[in-house]
Amino acid sequence: MSVDKEWFKGWNLSGEGIFLSAGPCSAESEEQVLTTARALAGKVDFLRAGIWKPRTRPGSFEGVGLKGLAWLDRARSETGVKVGTEVAEPSHVEACLEYGMDVLWVGARTTTNPFSVQAIADALRGTDIPVLVKNPMSADVDLWIGALERLANAGLTRLGAIHRGASSPLEMRYRNAPAWKMPIELMRRMPEIPVICDPSHICGKSDLIATIAQEAMDLLFDGLMVEVHPDPPNALSDAAQQLTPEQFYHMIGALDLPHEQSESTIFINRMSELREGVDEVDSQLLGLLGKRMEIVCEMGRLKLQENVSTLQPHRWQEILEDRIRKGLSLSLSEDFIQQLMQSIHEEAIRQQEFGRVEGAD
Ligand code: PEP
Ligand code: MN
Repeated sequence: MSVDKEWFKGWNLSGEGIFLSAGPCSAESEEQVLTTARALAGKVDFLRAGIWKPRTRPGSFEGVGLKGLAWLDRARSETGVKVGTEVAEPSHVEACLEYGMDVLWVGARTTTNPFSVQAIADALRGTDIPVLVKNPMSADVDLWIGALERLANAGLTRLGAIHRGASSPLEMRYRNAPAWKMPIELMRRMPEIPVICDPSHICGKSDLIATIAQEAMDLLFDGLMVEVHPDPPNALSDAAQQLTPEQFYHMIGALDLPHEQSESTIFINRMSELREGVDEVDSQLLGLLGKRMEIVCEMGRLKLQENVSTLQPHRWQEILEDRIRKGLSLSLSEDFIQQLMQSIHEEAIRQQEFGRVEGAD
């Protein structure tokens, strides 16, 4: 894949700092686009504004369509800001190329469908416009990577990813679960792809955005895409999560930008001692897990002899409640213990079922 982060660094207005995109969820009127562009020009890498809005359910504002491209074009010539919008199908791509948009992005609902992504990639073949890909609605890193690969295979080299969180029935605080392990896995598997965070769609509420934006900086994201509107309460879409330009600048100004490494020898030495401690604990954990699985397999053989089911719902309920209680007393969160025990239980079932198949041979 001939993709690298250089195009992105070249766009970084603040040099040492971070890549920034900001602008309204939706372009609503020429005046609204121009007002936002004037407030952001010279300080963001590109102005975002959706003109085709894929809404989960029909009946709400679905974007102004083509005429929004002319507004973005005018905002660009008047203020010099680069402009970008979301594309969901080849006709959107063609219109954006005609207007010479500076950057495009693929929205979460579109990334979910490989046919749609392929159609967009085919429409982009032969160009090298920067394209950012949002993660799919669910926390599926392979779909996200697949979309980036489809675009790279069409010859695009200026690619990036946007993390916007994932739908989760368990999420109460945020609109979308932050699901950090997904972008962390993307960074590990595709280190050549710049990854920015969209705290607006993760949070769903403007007062939570600063915390998630800071967390993204702490996790070494390359930048942010933030929804900014001149009059958030009257926005036609995503009103609760948009910041005013002033709130946006205040939030950005307050961010700490940590580095991946430190030169301090005291820090380096102490960290390496602590890491040895972590390595030792991890070996013990793995050893204990191996021991636990040996016991589980022995129980599996007994169940098979007695024709007893692999799943023991009452026992499983007791284990979960007990481990959560014990975990809480060690300051481990309920969610964490639940996920950990579910993974261990799933592996135990897999091993017992494997034993059943083997035992039946
Ligand atoms: C958007 O950026 O306004 C949008 C629709 O976001 P997402 O695709 O992340 O839901
Ligand atoms: Mn939005």
